[in-house]
Amino acid sequence: MALVWAVKLVLFLWLFNVLPSSQGKGNFNEFRYPFIKRASTFPSASSSSSSGHNNVYDYIVVGGGTAGCPLASTLSQKFNVLVLERGGVPFANSNVSFLRNFHIALADTSPTSASQAFISTDGVINARARVLGGGTSINAGFYTRASTRFVKSVGWDAKLVNESYPWIEKQIVHQPKLEPWQVALRDSLLDVGISPFNGFTYDHLYGTKVGGTIFDRFGRRHTAAELLSSGNPQKLTVLVYATVQRIVFDTSGKRPKAVGVIFKDENGNQHEAVLADKPQNEVILSSGAIGSPQMLLLSGIGPKADLEKLNIPVVLDNKFVGKGMADNPMNAIFVPSNKAEKQTLIQTVGITKMGVYIEASSGFSQSMDSIQCHHGIMSAEIGQLSTIPPKQRTPEAVQAYIRRKRNLPHEAFKGGFILEKIAYPISKGDLSLVNTNVDDNPSVTFNYFSHPYDLQRCVDGIRVATKLVQSEHFTNYTRCNKETVEKVLNSSVEANVNLIPKHTNDTKSLEQFCKDTVITIWHYHGGAHVGTVVSPQHKVLGVDRVRVVDSSTFSESPGTNPQATVMMMGRYFGAKILRERLGRAAGI
Ligand SMILES: Cc1cc2nc3c(=O)[nH]c(=O)nc-3n(C[C@H](O)[C@H](O)[C@H](O)COP(=O)(O)OP(=O)(O)OC[C@H]3O[C@@H](n4cnc5c(N)ncnc54)[C@H](O)[C@@H]3O)c2cc1C
Repeated sequence: MALVWAVKLVLFLWLFNVLPSSQGKGNFNEFRYPFIKRASTFPSASSSSSSGHNNVYDYIVVGGGTAGCPLASTLSQKFNVLVLERGGVPFANSNVSFLRNFHIALADTSPTSASQAFISTDGVINARARVLGGGTSINAGFYTRASTRFVKSVGWDAKLVNESYPWIEKQIVHQPKLEPWQVALRDSLLDVGISPFNGFTYDHLYGTKVGGTIFDRFGRRHTAAELLSSGNPQKLTVLVYATVQRIVFDTSGKRPKAVGVIFKDENGNQHEAVLADKPQNEVILSSGAIGSPQMLLLSGIGPKADLEKLNIPVVLDNKFVGKGMADNPMNAIFVPSNKAEKQTLIQTVGITKMGVYIEASSGFSQSMDSIQCHHGIMSAEIGQLSTIPPKQRTPEAVQAYIRRKRNLPHEAFKGGFILEKIAYPISKGDLSLVNTNVDDNPSVTFNYFSHPYDLQRCVDGIRVATKLVQSEHFTNYTRCNKETVEKVLNSSVEANVNLIPKHTNDTKSLEQFCKDTVITIWHYHGGAHVGTVVSPQHKVLGVDRVRVVDSSTFSESPGTNPQATVMMMGRYFGAKILRERLGRAAGI
């Protein structure tokens, strides 16, 4: 009997991958699909010719992220596709796989982390994915479609859009079990007039709604990497730990033409992947809003003077590459509670008519894992460190913070946040290279609130949030006394983690509160816009055989949260390309 149970337990652990392992460490089930391999297995030119292996591809997708996975999966139905992803696999990585570890993945600043931290020049701590599945492997999981206005504005075929969303939803999206903190948000939103209640829906509708999630009812994450399983395993190769360094161009003709890419494997050895010699074959950049503009610049497409400063041979002078970067600013109010709140990320959203979205999260950091975890300067929770001026946040201060944190009573982590974030920010910034090392983050500036309309909307959003905090749904639920607005805002300033100097006790000015406590909801976008860098078909202007399909092409972040539309976009462009090349024979 004991043996039977032992076998069952092993089977369970195997099926659900609960064996913890950090990214990069081996695990018998690590790669899940046979077409996923380490970059070092890529056959070198000499070995491929001697083995007769045809080492050329119809499509090379740079970045196996949110858009890259559904795109590659779809293209592989008919064409040979190579995906090159710089990170590892998400499947056996417990930091990625479980909702409860959301903030631990973000706090892991090691070189093998699934999340690569960056700090914009604005002083806001941010993160970009470095793992197969991209943002879907480290994000908060909330799934909601773009508005019909957005789809019209980008000129996509509405019928194909409406076929592409369900392709994603059937595979990895779930209806959440609404937790009490999210119920309190729903009811208080309706009380303050953000109505009607639209129930559980993926659609973008004014009022209050419950959206989908890529976490299942066990809190297990389902990522865009799972969409690869719909691909054709005979025609799909996915290499992980494959960091693309540049696109290779043939510049001997009238227009520069992409012929392949140079990438390095996990041992630092370089390889060249080559496109088969057909005019329609392409390198497709799906490296994200930081990675794709960075890759264009490293490949010689960008502002000439900037490229020359770094001795990058200029393939095409385009002053718009890296321009128009935007990030939806988020400001949060910390709501203390006298009992432990269950951890929730986002489930409910209020879509207002004033260009502000309201969401909530709760219950971070109560697990023992989390209390002991080294969050250091990247803490995504109540940051004791944030009370120290930025220049004094030395490694010693971080160590002292960790020691203090271990001794803190669990109660210190009780409560949750009400978040407000502004839709389509008008404030824009830019991205530029600091060096030619692809592993290093480029310099990114978002200029949060540089446009007065953005600041005004933040103030309006915080006003709504303070009403919500005082509504009986929160005060009853948290069993806290009716907090004074002043007290709540002050504790939010202290709890905030960015590197911007703070003005506590100046919360009378909500403008100052917004500027001091701005953080990110990680919906940054832009840098390779349609019209200036890519065509409406997302082909890079002025060169042949390069496209960009990811969030770098957006002028605004779609919906209240973008991942649904970014995944849909991967499927959409895959289907479009197949139809354009094959007509009816595309079968899609
Ligand atoms: C912490 C966090 C929370 C979020 N929460 C939500 C949420 O709840 N709901 C929501 O809708 N959205 C959320 N988002 C936003 C959403 O996840 C992103 O907008 C979306 O994933 C971006 O997709 P992408 O395809 O543009 O880029 P990514 O998904 O980042 O894909 C880019 C991929 O390219 C790879 N890459 C980059 N450079 C190279 C290179 N040189 N060589 C090889 N590979 C490379 C990267 O490793 C990555 O895998 C969140 C994002 C983050 C970071």
